[in-house]
Amino acid sequence: MEGFIPVIGIEIHVELKTGSKAFCSCSAGYGGEPNTRCCPVCLGMPGALPMLNGEAVRLAALAAVATGCTVEKRFHFDRKNYFYPDLPKGYQISQRDTPIGRDGAVRITADGAEKDIRIERIQLEEDAGKLIHRPEDGLTLIDFNRCGVPLIEIVSGPDMRSAAEAVAYVAEIRRIMRFYGISDCKMNEGSLRCDVNVSVMREGSGVPGTRCEIKNINSLSFTAKAIEAEFERQCGIISRGGTVIMETRRFNEDTGKTERMRDKETALDYRFIREADIPDVTLDDSYIDELRRETGRTPARRMREWRDRWGVREDDASLICFSREMADYFERAAGGCADPRVLTSLTVGTVIPEYGDATPFPPEYLSRAADLFASGKVTSTAVKKLIKIMGDTGLDPDAAAEKNGLLTLTDREEIRALVRRAAENDPRSAADVRRGKTKAKAAIVGGVMRLSRGAADPRIAAEEVDAFFAEDGD
Ligand SMILES: [Zn+2]
Repeated sequence: MEGFIPVIGIEIHVELKTGSKAFCSCSAGYGGEPNTRCCPVCLGMPGALPMLNGEAVRLAALAAVATGCTVEKRFHFDRKNYFYPDLPKGYQISQRDTPIGRDGAVRITADGAEKDIRIERIQLEEDAGKLIHRPEDGLTLIDFNRCGVPLIEIVSGPDMRSAAEAVAYVAEIRRIMRFYGISDCKMNEGSLRCDVNVSVMREGSGVPGTRCEIKNINSLSFTAKAIEAEFERQCGIISRGGTVIMETRRFNEDTGKTERMRDKETALDYRFIREADIPDVTLDDSYIDELRRETGRTPARRMREWRDRWGVREDDASLICFSREMADYFERAAGGCADPRVLTSLTVGTVIPEYGDATPFPPEYLSRAADLFASGKVTSTAVKKLIKIMGDTGLDPDAAAEKNGLLTLTDREEIRALVRRAAENDPRSAADVRRGKTKAKAAIVGGVMRLSRGAADPRIAAEEVDAFFAEDGD
């Protein structure tokens, strides 16, 4: 594949997290007994009229703002006509002429470099139902529960040049959608799906070849594998002097190869017409300004700021940015903390696994707990217990540490007394030390740690063991 570069553009379909469907009041939740969440509107009965869901518009506009797009202030819907058994109207309500968002960009980091990927358009549309193929009797069943669930389609520019960039882009879009509560983006439940366009460009030519679209990829690792397989296939065709045909393909997870589904449809095939049953929508400036205020700083921007200000590594920042609540919480905690690195590792290693983004104590408590550990007043084991206890009892960190004996024991007198007891409890090791086997000191230090229930400062304990036997020998 020397001399060839892949050119990749991605269309991401994201189901919006609304309570009801895009054009009727049926539940938009995932699952449910088949065909229990439908009505004449989403079943496409003659004469049934759609009613636009305001929350779907808000989430789609929020997605546009959060990805740096210009929001269309006046838009309408179009009918995209095609026959599919899971779309009983015979057309999908979508947006061709006036997508709700245009000309945005998101920044990704891949292979150690930052890069902006353009977003050409974001359009609001509806999902189709689900076909269930039953191999046991050869029947295909249809579940219309998903039919009419609101979607946005996010269309990137053909800006990615490797599978790693494509994966970073999908992950960034997923982060943004989750961060703002636009979608739960569960790829395994189909609430985020990717169509990937791949073509091959000769290095230095600047002109991409014919592209193929790989439909409905539902995991990040398959995205990477599908791109690599398709790139290899197209390079093979070109090297043999053949021509790549524009077509729609699918990724076969078992063979690891892409295979042909059908010729690629063009816009002409869909006979788009204006959707006349839904009036034009006008968004006023104050509506969009409000969304801008709500969006605030994007997760990518916060991650950069945390790196510069507190030295937070990208993988940690990425974990913390899994939700806006967590990111806000972390910022408040880090702002009041002496050692943000300690705070970061406690957040990622203990708080998020334990509580997700519903931490039951205020951020100031977490800062203080991190400071107690950073200053050596509690040990690494004790600080984890401390966080659990704060969560269970609501006690502040100082009170919780005090009450539960978690403060590190640094008092030399007390530690000296423990050393004496440890030596009495373990006469064999004590005798070994006295006979010059210095290795046996570790057993006595271990005894001190046990007697103090892990609270003794291990460095002081070791020094006091040395001192004890030195005096002993005099
Ligand atoms: Zn319905």
